[in-house]
Amino acid sequence: MQDCIFCKIAKHELPATILYEDDQVIAFNDIDPKAPHHLLVIPKRHITTLNDLEEGDEALVGRLQVTAAKLAKQLGFAEAGYRVVMNCNEDGGQTVWHIHMHVLAGRSLNWPPG
Ligand code: AMP
Ligand code: ZN
Repeated sequence: MQDCIFCKIAKHELPATILYEDDQVIAFNDIDPKAPHHLLVIPKRHITTLNDLEEGDEALVGRLQVTAAKLAKQLGFAEAGYRVVMNCNEDGGQTVWHIHMHVLAGRSLNWPPG
């Protein structure tokens, strides 16, 4: 989608520290990390919010999660632990309108979130 920063990162039109990429998903470091490790895993296809997921998207969403798990192992924080978060709309705290999975690690994370 034009003017979507995550679509631009997916198309390599905006710089990012890319950690993983395949034909469907791309993972990169968050520009404003909230933990020592803070990655974002996104579908390359533009999907505005979690509410826009449709039947047929199950494998794509699963691939986001499997990519997060693989990166957690590669980056060495799988055993210590990590948190995966997807924010949706205003109350969820979504600020970028292209779905993304946050992967946070490297410190003990509070629960429940604020
Ligand atoms: P959310 O608030 O859940 O929509 O998360 C959006 C995330 O995108 C925030 O953690 C931002 O720091 C991050 N972000 C925004 N712009 C960029 C960018 N150009 N590259 C990497 N991460 C970004
Ligand atoms: Zn997009």
